[in-house]
This record gives sequence, C-alpha cells and structure tokens, in this order.
Amino acid sequence: MRLSRYFLPILREVPKEAEIVSHRLMLRAGMIRQESAGIYAWLPLGKRVLDKICNVVREEQNRSGAVEILMPTIQSADLWRESGRYDDYGKEMLRIKDRHERDMLYGPTNEEMLTEIVRAYVKSYKDLPLNLYHIQWKFRDEVRPRFGVMRSREFLMKDAYSVDLDFESAVVAYNRMFVAYLRTFERLGLKAIPMVADTGPIGGNHSHEFIILASTGESQVFCHSDYLGMATPGTDVDFRDPAQLQSIVDRWTSLYAATEEKHDEAAFAAIPDGQRLSARGIEVGHIFYFGTKYSEPMGAKVAGPDGVERPVHMGSYGIGPSRLAAAIIEASHDENGIIWPEAIAPFRVGLLNLKPGDAATDAACEAIYAELGARNVDVLYDDTEERPGSKFATADLIGLPWQLIVGPKGLATGSVELKRRADGFRETLPISEAIARIT
Ligand code: ATP
Ligand code: MG
Ligand code: MG
Ligand code: MG
Repeated sequence: MRLSRYFLPILREVPKEAEIVSHRLMLRAGMIRQESAGIYAWLPLGKRVLDKICNVVREEQNRSGAVEILMPTIQSADLWRESGRYDDYGKEMLRIKDRHERDMLYGPTNEEMLTEIVRAYVKSYKDLPLNLYHIQWKFRDEVRPRFGVMRSREFLMKDAYSVDLDFESAVVAYNRMFVAYLRTFERLGLKAIPMVADTGPIGGNHSHEFIILASTGESQVFCHSDYLGMATPGTDVDFRDPAQLQSIVDRWTSLYAATEEKHDEAAFAAIPDGQRLSARGIEVGHIFYFGTKYSEPMGAKVAGPDGVERPVHMGSYGIGPSRLAAAIIEASHDENGIIWPEAIAPFRVGLLNLKPGDAATDAACEAIYAELGARNVDVLYDDTEERPGSKFATADLIGLPWQLIVGPKGLATGSVELKRRADGFRETLPISEAIARIT
C-alpha cells in the first residue's frame, strides 16, 4: 500500500476527550472515528487490526472444533419473551419497533437465537457435542460508554455456544474453550489470566473471566504472580482428548485468581509474600456454563441413548475483538506510539522514502516495495512529500514492527537502515540483507 493513496488521517495534537492511552493513540493513528457516543467507524488502519484479531480468534475457535455461523444483529423480542429476558435485561437493550409495530431489538448477545436454532434442528444425542460461534456486532446501551472502543455501545463480539447432552460433556466443552482462549490471547501477544467469576443463580465454578492486567482496567483483580510466567498450550493440544484438556485447565486454575466480586481475602492472604498481585484488569473474554437455563424454557431438547428427551446443557463464550484492539495498545506502547505485536500489526513493514523525487531513492524504494510484495509481506510505503522527521514520527505512532528507511546517503554505499519498533534497535544493511531479515 502506498501511503499517498491510502487513507490515514493522523492527528498531530493529543485529542483532549480521550482519557486513556489506547484511546488517544487509536484516534491519533487514524484507526477509529467516533460517530456518536460509544459508536465508532473503523478507518483503514483500525479495520486491518480488527480483521487480524478476528482471524486469530477464528483460527483458534476452529482448531478447538467450534463451527462458524453468522446470526443477525436484529432480533425479534418474542424470542426473548420465551426465555424471560425481554423484561429482565433492562436499559442496556436497544429496543426497536418495525413498521408493523412489532417489537424488535438490536442483539446484546445471542443465547436465545442460538437456542432457537438448536431447537429447530438438533434432535438426538448423536448430533452432539456441538459448538456454534459467530463474530458479529452487538449493541449495549452502556450507562457510561468510555475509553473509546474499550467500552463502546456498539462493539464486536465473538460469541460461541456449546450444546451437550449432560453436565459431564458440557464441562469438556467448557474446557475446550478455556484452552482455546489461552491460545488465542497468547497469539495476540497478551498475558490473559483466567479468573474465577460470578455464575449467578447457576452456581458451580464454571465461569471464568480472562483478564489482562493494566493500570487503566475497570475492575480490581487479585491473583498469584506465577500466572504471568505460566506456559500456554501449544498447537499440539488434542481438543478431542478430555483428560488432556482437564489437566491444562487444572494447572491454570490451581493458583488463586479472582475478580473483585469473587474475591476471598483469606485465600489471597495465603499466597506467599511477594507473590500476591493486586491490580487493575481489563476483561477481554468470558466463558460461562449455564446448563439448561435457556433450553428448558425454550424447549431445546434431544433424545438420549435411552430414547428419553431432555433439555440440552449449554455454555456461552465471549471475546471482544474491538475491545482487544484497545487492550493490546494498553499493554504495548511507548511515548512515541503503538507497538503492534507481529501477529496483528496492520502492516509488517513501513518503507520510508526519505527523498521522494530523487531518482535513485525512488528506484530503490520501488524495487524494495515490489520485492516485498512478491514475498507476500504487507508493506506501507511512505512515498509522501512529508519531511523525514514527520515520517519517522508517523511510523513510530502507527507502530509497525519494522521500518525500512531508505535515503540517498545510505544508498551511496548500497545500504538501507532497518529499525525494529519494539526496542528501537537499528542496523545499516545491504538492501538484500534487510529484505531477508523481514521476510
Ligand atoms: P463488562 O464487564 O466489561 O461490562 P461484560 O461482562 O458485560 O463486560 P460479556 O457479556 O461477558 O461482557 O461479553 C463478552 C465480551 O464482550 C467481554 O469479555 C468483552 O470482551 C466484550 N464486551 C462486553 N461489553 C463490551 C463493551 N461495552 N465494549 C466493548 N467490548 C465489550
Ligand atoms: Mg457489561
Ligand atoms: Mg463483566
Ligand atoms: Mg462478562
């Protein structure tokens, strides 16, 4: 992509309305634009990041055996009357009437709709286990939308729903998602800690919020510091092996970790000195077993091996990709801007032409641009007329992992400069070597 043909509305001034660093940087880097309170347009750079996050989430959902669908954003109120949630949900739900005066709503979540789909098609235990997910916009009329896309009213959610015959198999489904989440957040460059969360009237201990520690987090969390160094499961996890999944979950739940609502002072005090971590946290994911809460009132039943029909046991599993874009920046930035982890960087390389109009510099940049393109490396080529200082500032601000800096001085000896954004490490290299480094 040539920057001269791209749409990257960089802000030089610090936007006053933004209270936290990720919000400031997302506005300054031209990633998002507020259209009304808590409702954002995603500009090209932001859209690329969001897509990359979704792809990591999708790959790990698929790996675990979940199957992707796409449900609508607009739902009928009647479904929610069946579960009893239409009246319970309160003001966070955006209620709409269509031209026939029918009550509709913009979905804040999809348990009812998924249960309706299951009820229509799934009749036998032989169709189970099943886990269906989608990545779709949600709307919640938050009392205090704030911090940009961290707490917005319209936001993207990956929500998966597991369907099983009984409690035991539902726990296996829960564990699959637990492990898939560990892998997902690791790939996104985050240390997310599964923390015991509230299960409401369902009870039991099958609800975990995945929390990343950040001073700007909205909840207070408590955990053992060893979580920060715990190894995450590799690609070799066998999602069809319940014992293997259980042993991973057991390890990841063996130490104390809880959000404020479930905090137990005594258990926390029992952690050895120097290993107690009390911090602010951001909820990036939430997994939840809720049994027959929806299948029972909505009549989603399957026949077991004995021929007897029973309501299915379900769980739901959410991740917020739009919140993650902000959370990743909270976890990875410096005074000059964003530092994208390689896996979700909008482009891998920024190619900086320090003297556009100079024939030799233009030719070298074009050749490098073509070569990287041929090697399938995503490049943002800064071919604009801006001064070098401004190009450096933009490159640092938007946080691409590598900057390839090309100017007449270096080219005189056949070399270019390669800068690694994460630690600022710079090297002067022959062009071919620089290309080899980043491919
Ligand atoms: P919170 O406690 O932050 O209000 P929640 O518990 O209401 O979140 P869930 O219903 O568990 O959220 O939804 C699953 C995921 O969706 C959350 O873990 C989060 O990543 C994301 N999410 C929820 N609300 C928002 C929001 N207002 N803006 C952006 N992402 C959100
Ligand atoms: Mg909420
Ligand atoms: Mg929550
Ligand atoms: Mg939650």
